[in-house]
Amino acid sequence: MIGFLPNPTSRTLQPVPDPMHAASATLVWLIALVSSSLAQAPARGITSGKRVPRFVVRNALVVQGNGTPAAGPYDIVIEGNTIADMVALDPVAVKTGRAKRPSAEAEIDAAGKYVLPGLINAHAHLQNERGGQPQPYEYQLKLWLASGITTIREVSPSSQPKPFLELKEKSNAGTLEAPRMFIYAGFAADPVPRTPDQARARVQQLKTAGVDGIKIVGLDRDIMAAMEDEARKAGLPVAHHTGVEETTAWDDIKLGTRSIEHWYGVPDAALKDGVQGFPSSYNYHDEVDRFRWAGRLWREADPEKLHQVLKGMVENNVAWDPTLVIYEASRDLQRAQSQPWFKDYLHPTLEEYFRPNPANHGSYFIGWSSTDEAYWKENYRIWMAALRDFERMGGVIGVGEDAGFIYQMYGFGVIRELELHQEAGFHPLKVIQHATLNNARILGQENRIGRVRAGHLADLIVVNGNPLEDLKVLYPTGTTTMRDGKEVHTGGVEWTIKDGIPYHGPTLLAQVKEMVAQARAAVKAGQ
Ligand SMILES: [Zn+2]
Repeated sequence: MIGFLPNPTSRTLQPVPDPMHAASATLVWLIALVSSSLAQAPARGITSGKRVPRFVVRNALVVQGNGTPAAGPYDIVIEGNTIADMVALDPVAVKTGRAKRPSAEAEIDAAGKYVLPGLINAHAHLQNERGGQPQPYEYQLKLWLASGITTIREVSPSSQPKPFLELKEKSNAGTLEAPRMFIYAGFAADPVPRTPDQARARVQQLKTAGVDGIKIVGLDRDIMAAMEDEARKAGLPVAHHTGVEETTAWDDIKLGTRSIEHWYGVPDAALKDGVQGFPSSYNYHDEVDRFRWAGRLWREADPEKLHQVLKGMVENNVAWDPTLVIYEASRDLQRAQSQPWFKDYLHPTLEEYFRPNPANHGSYFIGWSSTDEAYWKENYRIWMAALRDFERMGGVIGVGEDAGFIYQMYGFGVIRELELHQEAGFHPLKVIQHATLNNARILGQENRIGRVRAGHLADLIVVNGNPLEDLKVLYPTGTTTMRDGKEVHTGGVEWTIKDGIPYHGPTLLAQVKEMVAQARAAVKAGQ
């Protein structure tokens, strides 16, 4: 029989009848019955995490990533790390003789599945600790892959990119189970550049270190102007975490920022009188203050001025990576605190970090009120309308999660972000484009990744279900549906193929579950 059982503890394959091996078929059938009912595509000659020189993903219904409708079936030929060919198998192609099925030593059958470009997480933080407590990189790397993420843009504040560049190298070499990495170094740390000359020197220093871009936050205007000018000359794109700062989106527009991260600087650029209506007691460094009053910012933006700001961003090629997901706890704390995947997959280090604690960034939920949530809900409505306005004018919207903070888990955060883009009013095809082709554009990599297309790098995912109908099928833990009058567990990214290497999603997830169980046991033993 054709079958693939990557890990006996993970979800197993569907039984394949085989009269010659009735006993083993019955056994597999029993395993399938007692374990999760998630259907798994059979695979032949494929081992999770191992590159094969050539394989075919068969019978794939493809969402290309550029906003065009699903099409298929296709046999997708992968050679090395490249999509070598896509052979159409539709009835017209069959009738006209174009559907010449490629042979292969190894294959994944994607019949009944959807194939998408690998998702790109444009706002990722590589973290091996939270609140000073260790947490292995493998935890987040496996979760990202299990969630279908084949590329991350690392945007941590550190100006010491060496450890991240080492991870990137291992990922590129295929020796680390990890998404592709683009390392944007923090600009203004260790030590903080204080003058325009120091700002230019810092850009040069990061360029020499070999980073892919620069992440900025909280710069005064003269420093930002010098660093952006130097970054442009050095060919380094800039991602701006916009806070409530001296600069606003207008500075990003004028200075050439590649992407605005989050949002504050956008409504800030459209304030009637150029200043926020915060209370006199407000202190920006008090995170309860900061996040509470941020929830009243969008309503202060003048709609006409806001439209002009968005237009300015579009005309000057400033993309927007809104990270809607990282503020969701502000509008619905209880939802954020009780996400179902916490039960088996929340690392105890992260769990501890999420607890309300003024000393942990983003853990500000002390005395969070129904009034705060009501304001934040309105905040989201205006914000989402601005995003729609922005895209309609031609703006590029990306997808990032900012996980590791505020109850957001790696990977799951990206999928939730997709749901929030749908809530904002975008068609699922557009939502998927945000996370694939648009993010590739933000990275300046649109000729290599972000699409399922012959000649592009082989970064794609095989999804058990139709994400155009329900984005929740992309959660690594899957979702439920009704089939023949019965509740069935379905969904999940079965295969994440990154740089031509197939990773089996359920196997990675089972490994994370084990990692978390062991870490919890160690915490318990230490008490
Ligand atoms: Zn961040």
